[in-house]
Amino acid sequence: MEGVQSYDAIIAGGGIIGVSLALELRQRGLSVLVLDRGQPGAEASTAGAGMLVASEMEGPPELRELARLSAEMFPHFVQQAEDASGVRVDFHRAGAIRLSAASLPSDPAPLTDAELAALEPALAGTSLRAHFVEENAVDPRTLMPALVESLKQAGGHIHAGSEVVAVGEQFGGVTGVRTPQTSFAASIVVNCCGAWAANVAPQVPARPVKGHMLALIPAKTPLLRHVVRLRDADLYLVPRRDGRIAVGSTVEEAGFDKHVDPDTIQRLHQRAADLVPDLGEAKMHEAWTGLRPGSPDKLPIMGATATRGLFVATGHFRNGILLAPATAMVMADLITGSVPRIALAPFVPERFPAR
Ligand SMILES: Cc1cc2nc3c(=O)[nH]c(=O)nc-3n(C[C@H](O)[C@H](O)[C@H](O)COP(=O)(O)OP(=O)(O)OC[C@H]3O[C@@H](n4cnc5c(N)ncnc54)[C@H](O)[C@@H]3O)c2cc1C
Repeated sequence: MEGVQSYDAIIAGGGIIGVSLALELRQRGLSVLVLDRGQPGAEASTAGAGMLVASEMEGPPELRELARLSAEMFPHFVQQAEDASGVRVDFHRAGAIRLSAASLPSDPAPLTDAELAALEPALAGTSLRAHFVEENAVDPRTLMPALVESLKQAGGHIHAGSEVVAVGEQFGGVTGVRTPQTSFAASIVVNCCGAWAANVAPQVPARPVKGHMLALIPAKTPLLRHVVRLRDADLYLVPRRDGRIAVGSTVEEAGFDKHVDPDTIQRLHQRAADLVPDLGEAKMHEAWTGLRPGSPDKLPIMGATATRGLFVATGHFRNGILLAPATAMVMADLITGSVPRIALAPFVPERFPAR
C-alpha cells in the first residue's frame, strides 16, 4: 500500500481488549493504531459491571489460569493506567459476598449470621449461604478513559468513527486495513471487534449476548461495602465509589438489538430488592444494555489465523474486563514472537470449523 500511513500493528476495535493490547504492544516498542467504528470503549467495555471473578471453582476450567493471572495483574494494571492518565479509577478492593442456596463440598464454612451482619449489615437476615471471597471490582466507565488516555500518552494512536471494512492480504500475509475514509498499512492486524468480530472476519464465530443492567441510588449511602453476587452470577450488586449500585444482569440471545426493556429492568430491580430490601426504595438512576462477545464454547477466541500477521482476540463473553490485562500480555507475547506465558491452545481460532 503506497502513500498510506503505516504502523507496526493495527488493532480493529477500541474496547478494553483492543486498547489494553495496543498499550502492551506500544510498551514493547511497536507503533500502534487503534481504529474504532464508534467511540472507543462505548460498547460492552463500559456496559459491564466490572466484577473480577477469578475464584477457583467457578467458570470453565480452561479459563482459570488466565483468569487467575489477570486478577493478579489487575492492581498494577489500574495503577499504571492512573499514573499515566491522571484519571482516577474506581477500583473496589473490599472483596465480595457470594450467596448460594447450598454449599459445594469444596466450600469453606459459610459465614455465620453474626459474621455476615458485621461484614454487610444490608444482608442481615438472608436465608442464603454467604461466603466472603477476595475479589476486586472496577468501574469500567472510569477504567476505559484511563486506558485510552494512557495509550495516547504512550504515543499510541486511536481513531474514533473509523470502521474497518476490509483487511488487506497479499501472498498469504496481511497488508493493512481499509476504512470508508482511507487505508492504513501494517504487517500485523488484530481483530478485537468484540461481538462484531465476524463482520471483519466471517470465520470468527463471535456473537452478541445481550445483558440488561441498571444503577440505583439508595436513600442511605454507602448501602453496601462489598460486591454481592449469587453464585451463578445471574444477579449481582456492585457498589460504586459515588454510592451508586450497579445491578445486573440478564443473558439474552437477541442478536444486535440493544433496546432497554422496562419490564426486564423492573424484574432485576425487584430481585435486587428481594436480596437487599433497602434497594426497593432506591432511586432508579439509569438503565442500559450491552452486547457481550460470546463464542460457541464460551471461551475466548485468541490467537493467530491462517493469514500471516492477522490475529484475533475476542469472545471474552462475561469476563472481558477481568481478562483484559492477561489477554494483552499473552497476545503481545504471541505477536512479538515470544512464547505466550499461558498456553493459548484452548483459545485458538482454528478449534472452530471453517465457515
Ligand atoms: C451487562 C454486562 C455485564 C458485564 N459484566 C462483566 C463483569 O462483571 N466482569 C467482566 O470481566 N466482564 C463483564 N462483562 C463482559 C465484558 O464487558 C466484555 O467481555 C468486554 O467488554 C469485551 O471487550 P471487547 O473489547 O472485546 O468488546 P467491546 O467493548 O464491545 O469492544 C469492541 C469494539 O469494537 C468496535 N468495532 C466493532 N466493529 C468494528 C469495526 N468493523 N471496525 C472498527 N471497530 C469496530 C466497537 O465499536 C467496540 O468499541 C459484562 C458485559 C455486559 C454486557
